[in-house]
Amino acid sequence: MMRRPTRPIRIGPIPVGGDAPVVIQSMTSTHTHDIDVTVAQIHRLVQAGAEVVRVAVADLHDTQALPKILKQVPCPIIADVHYHYERALEAIEAGVHKIRLNPGNLQDRDQVHRVIDACKDHGIPIRIGVNEGSIVERIDKTVREAEKSKLAREHHSSLIRLMMEKLTEYLKIFDDRNFRDVVLSAKSIDPIIVIEAYREISRRFDHPLHLGLTHAGPPETGRIRSVAALATLLAEGIGDTIRISYAADPVVEVTDAKELLCSLGLRKRTEPELIACPICGRIEIDLIKLVGEVRRRLTEINVPIKVAIMGCVVNGPGECEQADVALFAGRGKGILYVRGEQKRTVSEEQMVDALIEECRSLANQWNRP
Ligand code: SF4
Repeated sequence: MMRRPTRPIRIGPIPVGGDAPVVIQSMTSTHTHDIDVTVAQIHRLVQAGAEVVRVAVADLHDTQALPKILKQVPCPIIADVHYHYERALEAIEAGVHKIRLNPGNLQDRDQVHRVIDACKDHGIPIRIGVNEGSIVERIDKTVREAEKSKLAREHHSSLIRLMMEKLTEYLKIFDDRNFRDVVLSAKSIDPIIVIEAYREISRRFDHPLHLGLTHAGPPETGRIRSVAALATLLAEGIGDTIRISYAADPVVEVTDAKELLCSLGLRKRTEPELIACPICGRIEIDLIKLVGEVRRRLTEINVPIKVAIMGCVVNGPGECEQADVALFAGRGKGILYVRGEQKRTVSEEQMVDALIEECRSLANQWNRP
C-alpha cells in the first residue's frame, strides 16, 4: 500500500510522517494529577500496543504531576491543552514530547505565539486540530440552511470548507512563526465527513496527519464508525498516527487500532491471529464457547501464528489447511491440523488443550534461532 508522503517529525524517539510506520496513539481516561493511577494506565496502554499516549492537562495540578509521570512511563507523552495556554507552557517545561492545541479556544494570538516559541525552543511538535463540535458554533448561515433542509451533501461540503478555512488560518500563525513541526487533524462523529475532510487536507497540505473520530461512542457502535473512516483513509495511504476513541477502557482502543493496522498489512502481527467460521445451521458443536475459550488461552502465545476453528466440511478443511494450527470441530470430536496436515482426532473435551498444546509447540519452534 502506497503511503502519501508527509513531512517527517518526531514525537520523542518515535518517528511520525515521512515513510515511518503508522503510529498508534491513545489517551488516558484518568485525572492526570492522580499520578499512580495515570502511570498504571499508561503502562497498560503501552503493554497493549500504544506507542504514544496523550494526557489531559486541565489545570495546574495536572501539569505539576507531569515530571513525576514522565519519569515513570516508557513512551512519549502528549499534553492535551484547551483554553489555558499556561498549561501548555508548564507541560513543555515539564518535558512532554508534543502538545495538542486548539488555537481556536485560546484567547489571543499572543498566547498561541508563546506556545509555538516554547515548543520551538524545546524541539517538540504541536498538533492542531479542528473538531466538528468546536466549529459548529461558528458555522455560517449556508451550513445552517443546509442542515435545516437536510441536504447532507451540502452540509458536508460546507462543513469541510469551514474546517479547511480554520486549518489554513491556524497554519498561517505557525508559518508566520516559521514553525513547521505541525501535525493536523480534523475530527467529526460522522465517518463520511472524516473521510472527505482528511482527503482534502491531504490534497492541500504535506503535514503529518493524525486520524480519528470524535465522540465515536461505545465500542459496539464506535468500532464500526471508526473502522469505516480510518480503514478507508489508511487504505488510500492517508494517515500517520491514529487514535480510535471509545467511551470505554482505552486499552480496547489500542487493541482495536493494532488489529486494524495488522488487517490492512500496515503492521506485522506479533500475536496469534484467530479465525473462525461464522456458524450456521450445519454446526454440531457450541463453537461460540469453543472460540471464546481458545481466544482466552491464546493470550499466553506470543508469536504470530494463524489459528482456525471451523464447524463443518463446507469450508472447514480448506481453511484448516491454510492455518498454522486448526481445529475442524464436529459433534463430540474434532480433527486437529498442524501446518495444513491432519494430525489427529481429539475428543470434544480435549479440543482446547490439544489445540493450545500445538500452538505452544509451534511457538517454541518459532522462537528458536
Ligand atoms: S464452516 Fe460450516 S458450520 Fe461454519 S459457517 Fe461455514 S458452513 Fe456453517
